[in-house]
Amino acid sequence: MNRRNFLGGIAALSLQGCARKARTVAKIPSLPPYDALPRLMPIRAEVDRIFRVTVCLRPFRAAGPRLELERVGDKTVIHNYGHGGSGWSLSWGSSSIAVEKALGLGERDIAVIGCGALGLTSGILLQRAGAKVTIYAKERPPEVRSARATGSWTPDSRIALTNSAPLDFAALWEKMCRYSFHTYESYLGMAGNPVEWTDRYTLSDQPLHEMKASRLRDDTLGFAHYQDRIQDFTPRSRDLPPGSHPFPTRYAQRTSSLTFNIAGYSRQLVNDFLVEGGKIVKIEFHSPTELNQLAQNVIINATGYGARALWKDESIVPVRGQIAWLIPQPEVNYGVLYKNVNILARRDGIVVQDGGKLGDMEGYNDANEVPDRAAAESAVGVVEELYGRMNRSKWWRARSGHV
Ligand SMILES: Cc1cc2nc3c(=O)[nH]c(=O)nc-3n(C[C@H](O)[C@H](O)[C@H](O)COP(=O)(O)OP(=O)(O)OC[C@H]3O[C@@H](n4cnc5c(N)ncnc54)[C@H](O)[C@@H]3O)c2cc1C
Repeated sequence: MNRRNFLGGIAALSLQGCARKARTVAKIPSLPPYDALPRLMPIRAEVDRIFRVTVCLRPFRAAGPRLELERVGDKTVIHNYGHGGSGWSLSWGSSSIAVEKALGLGERDIAVIGCGALGLTSGILLQRAGAKVTIYAKERPPEVRSARATGSWTPDSRIALTNSAPLDFAALWEKMCRYSFHTYESYLGMAGNPVEWTDRYTLSDQPLHEMKASRLRDDTLGFAHYQDRIQDFTPRSRDLPPGSHPFPTRYAQRTSSLTFNIAGYSRQLVNDFLVEGGKIVKIEFHSPTELNQLAQNVIINATGYGARALWKDESIVPVRGQIAWLIPQPEVNYGVLYKNVNILARRDGIVVQDGGKLGDMEGYNDANEVPDRAAAESAVGVVEELYGRMNRSKWWRARSGHV
């Protein structure tokens, strides 16, 4: 073979190689480089890694949260309860409205009843406005119901019913939502990450629009949804083409959302409140008339589901939700929705919550706060099945080095 033929042969071979390579590359749909997925570590979903099971009741009101003024003897009470599945998300915005009403009465020594998401944010906002504040509560974090929430930005989860909320509620909701979101920005990037942005993956073997449609069909009560009012600061969900992600499902989408690491975040709120000279007094009230014993004349009532018994407010409906907590994995920092199971890897635990088949109606009017271990294990089983399939996928082996 002469030199020219030999070099020509090499060129032809390498061209063939390139073509083969090009064909192989073309088979894997890729995402734009700036949008490429990070290395996603699997969740170790085994039932012996469940370190606790908690139940919480969402304080749902068909008309939306109660925010009006009421006179009780010599006292003026401003209500701030009934935030359904949105209490953390809307806390700052809702409390800012209650605080404005309280300060409008001219008093500077103010009581707050309740030390959950709404009580703490009310207390802190009052302090920021220069008031002296005492929180009175039966429990404080981590015993409050707020401590048993998922920890996601879910500002319109079980917040009202479309046909029962007042006409102006959507605008009020938007105001609360924008205020809250803006305040949460100031908790980003802090030591311990009380609040952070994380990625969320929605996974399904059924087209995602069909999955959404069937959930809406199941919602016979008509829960209100207002997300289209806040699209300017809500990252949209993007489809992930098959082969561009490690998950074993046919359909996958990704978005990003705020995560509240509630153990650290609520501790931060309590500390902030105490550092500013706030006092927390442990007490249980059995009727509104007992509030007359308080030194303060203006009181913000942030008793959450507790308001049903204390104020005999039957408009509050419990919406039960249970969480199985898996041991945290520092290397996992994303969330997944798969087969109605909502998984969120937080710093204080991996939350596994079975959303059930009824969508927003799951747990509606169920006040049972006893944990159901079998249901917790079954939810973790769904996650185990997902990652069991994921381990076997070629994508996972090729990209993670797990062979
Ligand atoms: C499973 C689950 C997941 C959730 N996930 C999210 C989420 O991801 N994001 C989100 O935004 N929201 C979520 N929520 C909703 C959120 O948890 C609630 O909306 C929120 O916790 C309500 O807070 P709160 O301060 O009104 O009530 P609570 O946290 O219940 O606080 C009430 C306070 O009042 C006190 N109190 C009550 N009654 C009395 C009394 N008689 N005397 C003295 N003190 C009293 C209590 O001791 C407590 O201090 C979730 C809820 C559930 C159940």
